[in-house]
Amino acid sequence: MNRKTMLAVFLTGMMIAPLAIAAKFTILVFPDTQTEMTEALTYGAMKKWPAMVNWVVANRVSKNIQFICHVGDLVDWETPNSTPPNFMYQAGSDGFAVIDAAGMHYCIAVGNHDTRAVGGINGDGTACWCSGSAGPGDVHANLRNTTTLNTFFPPARYTACRGRYESTKTDNAYHTFSAGGLDWLVINTELDPRQGALDWFNSVISAHPTHNVIYVTHNYLSGSGTTGGGCGYGDLAPQQVWDGCLKLHSNVKLVLCGHVCCNARRINTGTSGNKVYEMLTDWQDEGNGWLRTLEIDPDSGTIMAKTYSPYLNQYKSDSANDFRLTGISFVPAAPPTGVRGGPPLFSLAKNPEGMENSVLNIYTLSGRRVYSMTTKRRVAGWDNRNAAALGIKPGNYVYVIADINGNRKSGKMAITSLTP
Ligand SMILES: [Zn+2]
Repeated sequence: MNRKTMLAVFLTGMMIAPLAIAAKFTILVFPDTQTEMTEALTYGAMKKWPAMVNWVVANRVSKNIQFICHVGDLVDWETPNSTPPNFMYQAGSDGFAVIDAAGMHYCIAVGNHDTRAVGGINGDGTACWCSGSAGPGDVHANLRNTTTLNTFFPPARYTACRGRYESTKTDNAYHTFSAGGLDWLVINTELDPRQGALDWFNSVISAHPTHNVIYVTHNYLSGSGTTGGGCGYGDLAPQQVWDGCLKLHSNVKLVLCGHVCCNARRINTGTSGNKVYEMLTDWQDEGNGWLRTLEIDPDSGTIMAKTYSPYLNQYKSDSANDFRLTGISFVPAAPPTGVRGGPPLFSLAKNPEGMENSVLNIYTLSGRRVYSMTTKRRVAGWDNRNAAALGIKPGNYVYVIADINGNRKSGKMAITSLTP
């Protein structure tokens, strides 16, 4: 009996149960970039935004950056008659194209400046530098006009997006990913959302009770770390969002926002006694390419926050910008289904014993293959060893099994102990 045959019959006693793995990872926060984007007025001379984007991609692996959250005010306002048209959106899009090419996931909260509510267009349709907190016309209706944002960032661009409140707009959307042995749900929202959107957030969060939720919105905390007021031309103010949604779900972990200078944080307490970590990141008054990294360590229950400008090559080292949150209880991932011992772990109903070839591949959550087996026999499982017959490290893994007839089965599993 060769080793592969042994593997195929060796399977049912393996120890499998959910367990978080000790992989630190980083959530990257882009603060309001409206000031950096005005550099695009001299388009070829842009320095700050490209420096931010290039740094993120260059540090993707070393910092294990798993998701990027932009807190809104991507641009300062629309300039439809500029060259190129809407030069700030074009610059923002070009930057995110680099991130797209790197295969990284992100979301963008809608800032007031990312809508028609804030200046940029004269009454006759020509461009102007007529910004303000609210432009002329029906400012409430204009706040929900995100046509330009959605033109540059259509739904298909968000590769981790799993659902939207409105099918053709990404103003309110949710995204999922797995990192650090945990499942994560990121919601990006419109500014001071409508009640219907809030109802949808509630339904999405309720449907994902074992995901750690990150709520990304533009207007939430004040500069002093209290609940901010509504912007005056939206719908639900931050307090109403908290009372009507965020405090009600014990799996809401992080609230990220921008809009007002400069940075603040607060630990809020939900109705279940759970802690919610709220952070404001916005250095628009400087516009020097600052960004925020949040290194999450599920095993130690910590989030390490750093503030860095790739453009200046400087860190902000004061306690408001360089800090560690401790004692965080993350929500464990749901137990994997159908992967405990007993019946054959991997099987395909249409792939009976002795039938055509089947291939079993085992991957880490980051996509690295740790084991592959081809067998003419029915694939029944795996003995937790890699190709060198060494026990693989405990942690979460993904299995994919396929047969020659095109049948395919995949799932996630966790291995709790090192195979001797
Ligand atoms: Zn704003």
